[in-house]
Amino acid sequence: MTSVPVLTTNLTTRLERAQHTAAEAGMDALLITPGPGLRYLTGFDARYSERLTCLVLPAHGDPVLVVPALETAVAQASPLGDLGIQIADWTETEDPLSLVSTLVPEVRTVGLDDQMRAITVLGLRETMPEVAQRPAGPVLAELQVRKDPAEIDALRVAGQAIDEVHAQVPQLLCAGRTEAEVGGDISAAILAAGHVSVDFVIVAAGPNGASPHHDLSDRVIQPGDVVVVDIGGTTPAGYCSDSTRTYAVGEPDSEYLRHYQTLQEAQQAAFDHARPGVTAESVDTVARDMLTEAGLGEYFIHRTGHGIGLSTHEEPYLVSGNTAVLEPGMAFSIEPGFYVPGRYGARIEDIVVATDDGAERLNHCPRELIVVDV
Ligand code: ZN
Ligand code: ZN
Repeated sequence: MTSVPVLTTNLTTRLERAQHTAAEAGMDALLITPGPGLRYLTGFDARYSERLTCLVLPAHGDPVLVVPALETAVAQASPLGDLGIQIADWTETEDPLSLVSTLVPEVRTVGLDDQMRAITVLGLRETMPEVAQRPAGPVLAELQVRKDPAEIDALRVAGQAIDEVHAQVPQLLCAGRTEAEVGGDISAAILAAGHVSVDFVIVAAGPNGASPHHDLSDRVIQPGDVVVVDIGGTTPAGYCSDSTRTYAVGEPDSEYLRHYQTLQEAQQAAFDHARPGVTAESVDTVARDMLTEAGLGEYFIHRTGHGIGLSTHEEPYLVSGNTAVLEPGMAFSIEPGFYVPGRYGARIEDIVVATDDGAERLNHCPRELIVVDV
Protein backbone atom coordinates (compact mmCIF):
# COMPACT_ATOMS: atom_id res chain seq x y z
CA MET A 1 0.00 0.00 0.00
CA THR A 2 1.10 3.55 -0.65
CA SER A 3 1.25 5.91 2.29
CA VAL A 4 -1.89 7.48 3.64
CA PRO A 5 -2.19 11.06 2.42
CA VAL A 6 -2.68 13.91 4.83
CA LEU A 7 -6.28 14.85 4.34
CA THR A 8 -6.77 17.40 7.05
CA THR A 9 -4.87 20.33 5.56
CA ASN A 10 -7.97 21.81 3.95
CA LEU A 11 -10.25 21.77 6.95
CA THR A 12 -10.36 25.52 7.47
CA THR A 13 -11.29 25.99 3.83
CA ARG A 14 -13.95 23.32 4.12
CA LEU A 15 -15.51 25.03 7.14
CA GLU A 16 -15.56 28.36 5.34
CA ARG A 17 -17.09 26.83 2.23
CA ALA A 18 -19.73 25.10 4.34
CA GLN A 19 -20.62 28.44 5.94
CA HIS A 20 -20.83 30.12 2.57
CA THR A 21 -22.91 27.33 1.03
CA ALA A 22 -25.24 27.26 4.04
CA ALA A 23 -25.79 31.02 3.78
CA GLU A 24 -26.54 30.72 0.08
CA ALA A 25 -29.06 27.99 0.86
CA GLY A 26 -30.81 30.28 3.34
CA MET A 27 -29.58 28.55 6.49
CA ASP A 28 -28.31 30.58 9.44
CA ALA A 29 -26.38 27.69 10.97
CA LEU A 30 -25.51 24.04 10.44
CA LEU A 31 -25.75 21.55 13.28
CA ILE A 32 -23.50 18.62 12.40
CA THR A 33 -23.51 15.45 14.50
CA PRO A 34 -21.08 12.48 14.35
CA GLY A 35 -20.70 10.89 10.94
CA PRO A 36 -19.10 11.61 7.59
CA GLY A 37 -20.10 15.29 7.64
CA LEU A 38 -18.32 15.96 10.91
CA ARG A 39 -15.28 14.00 9.76
CA TYR A 40 -15.20 15.91 6.49
CA LEU A 41 -15.40 19.33 8.14
CA THR A 42 -13.23 18.78 11.23
CA GLY A 43 -11.40 15.44 11.01
CA PHE A 44 -13.11 14.43 14.26
CA ASP A 45 -14.33 10.82 14.12
CA ALA A 46 -16.70 11.29 17.04
CA ARG A 47 -18.60 8.58 18.83
CA TYR A 48 -22.21 8.26 17.62
CA SER A 49 -24.13 7.82 20.86
CA GLU A 50 -27.05 9.04 22.94
CA ARG A 51 -24.80 11.77 24.38
CA LEU A 52 -24.88 14.77 22.07
CA THR A 53 -21.81 15.78 20.14
CA CYS A 54 -22.62 18.57 17.68
CA LEU A 55 -20.64 21.03 15.62
CA VAL A 56 -22.50 24.32 15.71
CA LEU A 57 -21.46 26.14 12.56
CA PRO A 58 -23.09 29.55 12.12
CA ALA A 59 -23.22 30.88 8.56
CA HIS A 60 -21.52 33.98 9.94
CA GLY A 61 -19.36 33.58 13.03
CA ASP A 62 -17.09 31.07 14.68
CA PRO A 63 -17.86 27.36 14.96
CA VAL A 64 -18.25 25.72 18.38
CA LEU A 65 -18.12 22.04 19.17
CA VAL A 66 -20.65 20.88 21.76
CA VAL A 67 -19.29 17.69 23.28
CA PRO A 68 -19.84 15.56 26.40
CA ALA A 69 -17.22 16.59 28.97
CA LEU A 70 -15.94 13.03 29.19
CA GLU A 71 -15.03 13.20 25.48
CA THR A 72 -13.42 16.65 25.44
CA ALA A 73 -9.92 15.20 25.50
CA VAL A 74 -10.71 12.92 22.56
CA ALA A 75 -12.02 15.87 20.57
CA GLN A 76 -8.95 17.96 21.35
CA ALA A 77 -6.65 15.13 20.32
CA SER A 78 -8.36 14.86 16.92
CA PRO A 79 -7.51 17.13 13.95
CA LEU A 80 -10.31 19.38 15.21
CA GLY A 81 -8.05 20.31 18.12
CA ASP A 82 -5.57 21.97 15.76
CA LEU A 83 -8.25 24.09 14.11
CA GLY A 84 -8.75 26.35 17.09
CA ILE A 85 -12.43 25.49 17.26
CA GLN A 86 -13.93 26.50 20.58
CA ILE A 87 -15.18 23.56 22.63
CA ALA A 88 -18.30 23.86 24.79
CA ASP A 89 -18.54 20.74 26.88
CA TRP A 90 -21.47 19.63 28.97
CA THR A 91 -21.58 17.49 32.08
CA GLU A 92 -23.85 14.54 32.69
CA THR A 93 -26.54 16.63 34.42
CA GLU A 94 -26.68 19.48 31.90
CA ASP A 95 -28.99 19.77 28.88
CA PRO A 96 -26.88 19.89 25.72
CA LEU A 97 -29.78 21.09 23.56
CA SER A 98 -30.15 24.23 25.66
CA LEU A 99 -26.44 24.74 25.24
CA VAL A 100 -26.81 24.50 21.46
CA SER A 101 -29.64 27.01 21.47
CA THR A 102 -27.63 29.56 23.44
CA LEU A 103 -24.83 29.33 20.87
CA VAL A 104 -27.12 30.36 18.01
CA PRO A 105 -29.57 32.79 19.64
CA GLU A 106 -30.54 34.69 16.51
CA VAL A 107 -31.13 31.91 13.99
CA ARG A 108 -34.36 31.42 12.08
CA THR A 109 -33.39 28.40 9.97
CA VAL A 110 -30.94 25.62 10.85
CA GLY A 111 -29.58 22.84 8.68
CA LEU A 112 -29.53 19.54 10.55
CA ASP A 113 -27.12 16.72 9.82
CA ASP A 114 -28.87 14.02 7.77
CA GLN A 115 -27.75 11.42 10.30
CA MET A 116 -28.83 13.35 13.41
CA ARG A 117 -30.84 11.13 15.73
CA ALA A 118 -34.59 11.70 15.57
CA ILE A 119 -34.68 12.27 19.33
CA THR A 120 -32.22 15.15 18.90
CA VAL A 121 -34.20 16.63 16.02
CA LEU A 122 -37.37 16.53 18.09
CA GLY A 123 -35.58 17.87 21.15
CA LEU A 124 -34.23 20.82 19.15
CA ARG A 125 -37.75 21.48 17.90
CA GLU A 126 -38.92 21.79 21.50
CA THR A 127 -35.93 23.82 22.65
CA MET A 128 -35.98 26.17 19.66
CA PRO A 129 -39.68 26.19 18.63
CA GLU A 130 -39.41 29.23 16.39
CA VAL A 131 -36.52 27.85 14.37
CA ALA A 132 -37.19 26.12 11.04
CA GLN A 133 -35.33 22.88 10.44
CA ARG A 134 -33.96 21.81 7.08
CA PRO A 135 -31.64 18.97 6.07
CA ALA A 136 -27.97 19.94 5.93
CA GLY A 137 -27.29 17.06 3.52
CA PRO A 138 -27.48 19.07 0.29
CA VAL A 139 -25.07 21.70 1.68
CA LEU A 140 -22.50 19.07 2.65
CA ALA A 141 -23.03 17.08 -0.54
CA GLU A 142 -22.29 20.19 -2.56
CA LEU A 143 -18.87 20.29 -0.89
CA GLN A 144 -18.16 16.58 -0.67
CA VAL A 145 -19.25 15.52 -4.14
CA ARG A 146 -16.07 16.85 -5.78
CA LYS A 147 -13.01 15.15 -4.31
CA ASP A 148 -9.72 17.02 -4.04
CA PRO A 149 -6.49 15.32 -5.19
CA ALA A 150 -5.67 14.01 -1.70
CA GLU A 151 -9.10 12.46 -1.42
CA ILE A 152 -8.75 10.83 -4.83
CA ASP A 153 -5.39 9.43 -3.71
CA ALA A 154 -7.13 8.07 -0.63
CA LEU A 155 -9.80 6.42 -2.78
CA ARG A 156 -7.02 5.01 -4.98
CA VAL A 157 -5.41 3.45 -1.89
CA ALA A 158 -8.79 1.99 -0.92
CA GLY A 159 -9.24 0.62 -4.43
CA GLN A 160 -5.82 -1.04 -4.39
CA ALA A 161 -6.55 -2.59 -1.01
CA ILE A 162 -9.83 -4.17 -2.08
CA ASP A 163 -8.26 -5.33 -5.36
CA GLU A 164 -5.73 -7.25 -3.26
CA VAL A 165 -8.61 -9.04 -1.60
CA HIS A 166 -10.40 -9.90 -4.84
CA ALA A 167 -7.13 -11.32 -6.13
CA GLN A 168 -7.30 -13.88 -3.30
CA VAL A 169 -10.95 -14.86 -3.76
CA PRO A 170 -10.33 -17.61 -6.35
CA GLN A 171 -8.24 -19.48 -3.76
CA LEU A 172 -10.98 -19.14 -1.14
CA LEU A 173 -13.94 -20.23 -3.25
CA CYS A 174 -14.52 -23.89 -3.77
CA ALA A 175 -17.41 -26.30 -3.77
CA GLY A 176 -18.11 -27.66 -0.30
CA ARG A 177 -17.33 -24.47 1.63
CA THR A 178 -20.16 -22.29 2.90
CA GLU A 179 -20.68 -18.66 1.97
CA ALA A 180 -20.06 -17.80 5.63
CA GLU A 181 -16.72 -19.62 5.69
CA VAL A 182 -15.57 -17.85 2.56
CA GLY A 183 -16.88 -14.56 3.95
CA GLY A 184 -14.90 -15.01 7.16
CA ASP A 185 -11.69 -15.44 5.20
CA ILE A 186 -12.55 -12.42 3.07
CA SER A 187 -13.14 -10.28 6.17
CA ALA A 188 -9.70 -11.21 7.49
CA ALA A 189 -8.18 -10.41 4.09
CA ILE A 190 -9.90 -7.01 3.99
CA LEU A 191 -8.24 -6.07 7.28
CA ALA A 192 -4.90 -7.59 6.24
CA ALA A 193 -4.98 -5.49 3.06
CA GLY A 194 -4.92 -2.29 5.11
CA HIS A 195 -8.52 -1.45 5.94
CA VAL A 196 -9.36 -0.54 9.53
CA SER A 197 -12.89 -1.91 9.26
CA VAL A 198 -14.89 -4.38 7.20
CA ASP A 199 -18.00 -2.58 6.01
CA PHE A 200 -19.75 -5.42 4.15
CA VAL A 201 -19.04 -8.84 2.70
CA ILE A 202 -21.52 -10.31 0.25
CA VAL A 203 -20.86 -13.84 -0.94
CA ALA A 204 -23.96 -14.83 -2.88
CA ALA A 205 -23.77 -18.29 -4.39
CA GLY A 206 -26.17 -19.81 -6.91
CA PRO A 207 -29.75 -18.60 -6.42
CA ASN A 208 -28.64 -16.32 -3.57
CA GLY A 209 -26.92 -14.24 -6.24
CA ALA A 210 -30.36 -13.09 -7.38
CA SER A 211 -30.58 -10.93 -4.24
CA PRO A 212 -28.27 -7.94 -4.82
CA HIS A 213 -27.77 -7.27 -1.10
CA HIS A 214 -27.59 -10.87 0.04
CA ASP A 215 -25.20 -11.08 2.96
CA LEU A 216 -23.70 -14.44 3.94
CA SER A 217 -25.46 -17.69 4.68
CA ASP A 218 -24.67 -21.28 5.53
CA ARG A 219 -25.36 -22.32 1.97
CA VAL A 220 -22.74 -24.79 0.80
CA ILE A 221 -21.25 -23.69 -2.49
CA GLN A 222 -22.13 -26.23 -5.19
CA PRO A 223 -20.29 -27.21 -8.36
CA GLY A 224 -21.77 -25.05 -11.12
CA ASP A 225 -22.62 -22.11 -8.83
CA VAL A 226 -21.85 -18.61 -9.92
CA VAL A 227 -20.92 -16.48 -6.91
CA VAL A 228 -21.36 -12.71 -6.64
CA VAL A 229 -18.72 -11.27 -4.28
CA ASP A 230 -19.23 -7.61 -3.28
CA ILE A 231 -16.87 -6.36 -0.59
CA GLY A 232 -15.71 -3.13 1.00
CA GLY A 233 -14.03 -1.57 3.98
CA THR A 234 -12.73 1.71 5.33
CA THR A 235 -9.07 2.71 5.18
CA PRO A 236 -7.15 4.52 7.95
CA ALA A 237 -7.75 7.81 6.12
CA GLY A 238 -11.49 7.20 6.42
CA TYR A 239 -12.21 6.52 2.75
CA CYS A 240 -14.25 3.54 1.59
CA SER A 241 -13.67 0.74 -0.88
CA ASP A 242 -16.42 -1.12 -2.73
CA SER A 243 -15.91 -3.62 -5.54
CA THR A 244 -17.83 -6.54 -6.98
CA ARG A 245 -16.61 -9.43 -9.08
CA THR A 246 -18.51 -12.52 -10.14
CA TYR A 247 -16.89 -15.94 -9.95
CA ALA A 248 -18.00 -19.33 -11.23
CA VAL A 249 -17.23 -22.64 -9.58
CA GLY A 250 -16.84 -24.72 -12.70
CA GLU A 251 -17.94 -23.61 -16.15
CA PRO A 252 -21.49 -22.16 -16.23
CA ASP A 253 -23.92 -22.87 -19.07
CA SER A 254 -23.75 -21.01 -22.35
CA GLU A 255 -26.82 -18.87 -21.60
CA TYR A 256 -25.16 -17.49 -18.48
CA LEU A 257 -21.91 -16.89 -20.31
CA ARG A 258 -23.78 -14.95 -22.99
CA HIS A 259 -25.57 -12.82 -20.40
CA TYR A 260 -22.33 -12.19 -18.55
CA GLN A 261 -20.65 -11.07 -21.75
CA THR A 262 -23.45 -8.53 -22.25
CA LEU A 263 -23.02 -7.35 -18.66
CA GLN A 264 -19.31 -6.84 -19.12
CA GLU A 265 -19.91 -4.87 -22.31
CA ALA A 266 -22.55 -2.77 -20.54
CA GLN A 267 -20.18 -1.99 -17.69
CA GLN A 268 -17.47 -1.02 -20.17
CA ALA A 269 -19.88 1.14 -22.20
CA ALA A 270 -21.05 2.95 -19.06
CA PHE A 271 -17.43 3.61 -18.11
CA ASP A 272 -16.59 4.85 -21.61
CA HIS A 273 -19.57 7.20 -21.44
CA ALA A 274 -18.87 8.58 -17.94
CA ARG A 275 -17.06 11.92 -18.17
CA PRO A 276 -17.51 15.54 -17.16
CA GLY A 277 -20.47 17.12 -18.91
CA VAL A 278 -22.74 14.09 -19.08
CA THR A 279 -25.59 13.62 -16.62
CA ALA A 280 -25.49 11.05 -13.84
CA GLU A 281 -28.66 9.45 -15.20
CA SER A 282 -27.20 9.04 -18.69
CA VAL A 283 -24.55 6.64 -17.36
CA ASP A 284 -27.37 4.51 -15.99
CA THR A 285 -29.21 4.70 -19.30
CA VAL A 286 -26.21 3.47 -21.28
CA ALA A 287 -25.84 0.33 -19.16
CA ARG A 288 -29.58 -0.26 -18.86
CA ASP A 289 -30.28 0.05 -22.57
CA MET A 290 -27.68 -2.61 -23.39
CA LEU A 291 -29.04 -5.03 -20.81
CA THR A 292 -32.60 -4.34 -21.94
CA GLU A 293 -31.66 -4.98 -25.55
CA ALA A 294 -30.36 -8.41 -24.49
CA GLY A 295 -33.61 -9.18 -22.66
CA LEU A 296 -32.11 -8.60 -19.21
CA GLY A 297 -33.69 -5.21 -18.46
CA GLU A 298 -36.30 -6.60 -16.05
CA TYR A 299 -33.51 -8.32 -14.10
CA PHE A 300 -31.43 -5.17 -13.60
CA ILE A 301 -33.28 -4.04 -10.48
CA HIS A 302 -31.03 -1.34 -9.04
CA ARG A 303 -29.40 1.93 -10.08
CA THR A 304 -26.09 1.76 -11.94
CA GLY A 305 -24.02 3.43 -9.26
CA HIS A 306 -23.50 5.67 -6.25
CA GLY A 307 -20.94 8.22 -5.16
CA ILE A 308 -18.32 7.14 -2.64
CA GLY A 309 -15.91 8.86 -0.28
CA LEU A 310 -16.10 9.02 3.51
CA SER A 311 -19.37 7.10 3.06
CA THR A 312 -19.87 4.06 0.88
CA HIS A 313 -23.05 5.56 -0.57
CA GLU A 314 -23.32 9.30 -1.25
CA GLU A 315 -23.90 11.72 -4.13
CA PRO A 316 -23.81 11.44 -7.08
CA TYR A 317 -26.30 8.62 -7.60
CA LEU A 318 -26.31 7.21 -11.12
CA VAL A 319 -30.04 6.73 -11.43
CA SER A 320 -32.81 7.73 -13.78
CA GLY A 321 -34.07 11.16 -12.74
CA ASN A 322 -30.73 12.47 -11.50
CA THR A 323 -29.94 15.15 -14.06
CA ALA A 324 -26.87 16.37 -12.14
CA VAL A 325 -23.94 16.82 -14.49
CA LEU A 326 -20.72 14.94 -13.74
CA GLU A 327 -17.69 17.08 -12.94
CA PRO A 328 -13.97 16.37 -12.50
CA GLY A 329 -13.28 14.91 -9.07
CA MET A 330 -16.59 13.13 -8.68
CA ALA A 331 -16.08 9.53 -7.58
CA PHE A 332 -18.75 6.87 -8.02
CA SER A 333 -19.35 3.19 -8.66
CA ILE A 334 -20.37 1.72 -11.99
CA GLU A 335 -22.04 -1.55 -11.09
CA PRO A 336 -24.64 -2.93 -13.46
CA GLY A 337 -25.92 -6.43 -12.76
CA PHE A 338 -28.68 -8.91 -13.49
CA TYR A 339 -30.63 -10.96 -10.98
CA VAL A 340 -32.79 -13.86 -12.12
CA PRO A 341 -34.93 -15.07 -9.19
CA GLY A 342 -34.38 -18.66 -8.19
CA ARG A 343 -31.43 -19.04 -10.52
CA TYR A 344 -28.46 -16.71 -10.33
CA GLY A 345 -27.09 -13.20 -10.39
CA ALA A 346 -24.12 -11.24 -11.68
CA ARG A 347 -22.59 -7.84 -11.03
CA ILE A 348 -19.40 -6.06 -12.03
CA GLU A 349 -18.49 -3.03 -9.91
CA ASP A 350 -15.61 -0.61 -10.14
CA ILE A 351 -15.09 2.72 -8.44
CA VAL A 352 -14.44 5.40 -11.02
CA VAL A 353 -13.36 9.02 -10.70
CA ALA A 354 -14.19 11.65 -13.31
CA THR A 355 -11.03 13.33 -14.61
CA ASP A 356 -10.71 16.54 -16.65
CA ASP A 357 -11.50 14.75 -19.90
CA GLY A 358 -12.79 11.30 -19.05
CA ALA A 359 -12.74 8.90 -16.16
CA GLU A 360 -10.26 6.72 -14.31
CA ARG A 361 -11.01 3.33 -12.84
CA LEU A 362 -9.75 2.78 -9.30
CA ASN A 363 -10.28 -0.98 -9.44
CA HIS A 364 -8.21 -3.09 -11.76
CA CYS A 365 -8.97 -6.78 -11.15
CA PRO A 366 -10.04 -8.62 -14.31
CA ARG A 367 -13.70 -8.08 -15.12
CA GLU A 368 -14.12 -11.32 -17.01
CA LEU A 369 -16.06 -14.07 -15.29
CA ILE A 370 -13.43 -15.87 -13.21
CA VAL A 371 -13.94 -19.62 -13.38
CA VAL A 372 -12.37 -21.53 -10.52
CA ASP A 373 -11.89 -25.28 -10.47
CA VAL A 374 -14.56 -27.36 -8.81
ZN1 ZN B 1 -21.45 -0.14 -4.65
ZN1 ZN C 1 -20.57 -3.00 -3.89
